Amino acid sequence: MSKLAFEARDYGFSEYVTAKNWIGGEWTQSASGKTEEVFNPRYGKAMGSVVFSGAKDVAAAFEAASKAQPGWADLPTRERAQVMYRLKYLMEENLDELSWLLSHENGKTFGQAKAEVMKGIECVEFGASLANQADGGQLDVSRGVNCRTIYEPVGVVAGVTPFNFPTMVPLWMIPQALVGGNAFLLKPSERTPYGAMRLAELLKEAGLPDGVFNLVNGGKEAVEALCDHEGIGALGFVGSTPVAQIVYERASKTGKKVVCLGGAKNHLVVVPDADRELSSSNIVASFTGCAGQRCMAAAVLLAVGDVQHIIDDVVSQASELVAGKDIGAIVTPESRERILGYIDEAEKEGFTIAVDGRGQGPDGDGWWVGATVIDHVEPGARCATEEIFGPVLSIIRVDTLEEALAIENASPFGNAAAIYTTSGDIAERAVRRFQAGMCGVNIGVPVPREPFAFGGWNDSKFGHGDITGWDGFAFWTRPRKVTTKWALQSDQTWMS
Ligand code: NAD
Repeated sequence: MSKLAFEARDYGFSEYVTAKNWIGGEWTQSASGKTEEVFNPRYGKAMGSVVFSGAKDVAAAFEAASKAQPGWADLPTRERAQVMYRLKYLMEENLDELSWLLSHENGKTFGQAKAEVMKGIECVEFGASLANQADGGQLDVSRGVNCRTIYEPVGVVAGVTPFNFPTMVPLWMIPQALVGGNAFLLKPSERTPYGAMRLAELLKEAGLPDGVFNLVNGGKEAVEALCDHEGIGALGFVGSTPVAQIVYERASKTGKKVVCLGGAKNHLVVVPDADRELSSSNIVASFTGCAGQRCMAAAVLLAVGDVQHIIDDVVSQASELVAGKDIGAIVTPESRERILGYIDEAEKEGFTIAVDGRGQGPDGDGWWVGATVIDHVEPGARCATEEIFGPVLSIIRVDTLEEALAIENASPFGNAAAIYTTSGDIAERAVRRFQAGMCGVNIGVPVPREPFAFGGWNDSKFGHGDITGWDGFAFWTRPRKVTTKWALQSDQTWMS
């Protein structure tokens, strides 16, 4: 049993160890000696603390990683992938522990935490499958001449992740990067550092050599050091749009491969022929799941024509959800104030607060907002255009599909968009016109599952390529192109 094992198996408050750095297979303090508290949002109370790292810690982690990486890269892909098989097994064995830990540090309900861990396991499974898939292809391109591609590791690479999926988002990156032969430096969110700590331990238990995976905890300073480090060859970032843009620009200056996924304002379109039950329950699940703190959450419902019956169902289902039971906590008091600010402003602007989540939540010092539906919103309103990142749905009424598409297209974000309809023609027209990288038909959280890749467009992503599935493997590797000729051909062509 690991010394980090998290004993709690319910919502009761529980303390945890200090989140340190994991460098070369050992827990270490940061060079600065600085720490900050980590809160359990359900209680609004510190459950532990996290070290704050800077350039010295990044340099130490880089050194450990660059020592370990060549030996790791020398192993055949199939051997590297064995670690992912064992990690999958260990995560399944420790599913409850990982899920409760996640629920405690992030505030999500146990059910949603478990769903996150299981989605993380799916990412690990994809990494394991690379053992049989990661061939680069080859072809005799001319008489006596063969071309082939070999996916080579980049070397030492880094990932920076947000608070809202502390276990799954690191696993969007780690399996492909490690099976690809890299050594990895992870900088988790300072608000939720514990899931990654358990992953570090489980990776070791799964047989990963020391130094191949390292954790550097902290905030902005640690991220800046990762961006500036000349030796780190690739950096993946997931977080808010303003930070994604800063990180993309800063990290690109050192010639790294960089992909930065940012924030979102996702639009769902519902038309009169939509299935009433499927649409309403799916819309509610999309905007309230994880308390709206997910980049794929519905934010705006574009109600086309007479869909009052569906809106009535959305309102009645959302009213029944209970913050603290069905809806998890909000990550910080500042986030809660930001969300409440948007609702207050919408009310002042005269929009209808059809479901009011203000003042909801269990007794105590936790940070809560209940499901909120704001109806008859004007398209340019702040609640309809800015990322709220809470369980809030703004409904805009329009007469035609064209009007709905124009509003969706005008958003600077481009993460996800979906349409609810029973018409293949309408579905296809909408999907082809959305300004979003991930589109759904009758599904409000259109997450592409492995082997498909995850990534938005426009202000929801900076850089090239996507982050999961095959595209993730392409991002964390470099294709070497080899052209071979063994003998002079008597019937040679210009290419021979
Ligand atoms: P955030 O941008 O505040 O933080 C993300 C990471 O960046 C953290 O590790 C943090 O320590 C670091 N960071 C924060 N400020 C920084 C700065 N000035 N310079 C350098 N690094 C900095 O995001 P968050 O609040 O943790 O997460 C929520 C955001 O992430 C939302 O906007 C959400 O839409 C987005 N998100 C996007 C996706 C996606 O796939 N597009 C997925 C999950 C979350």
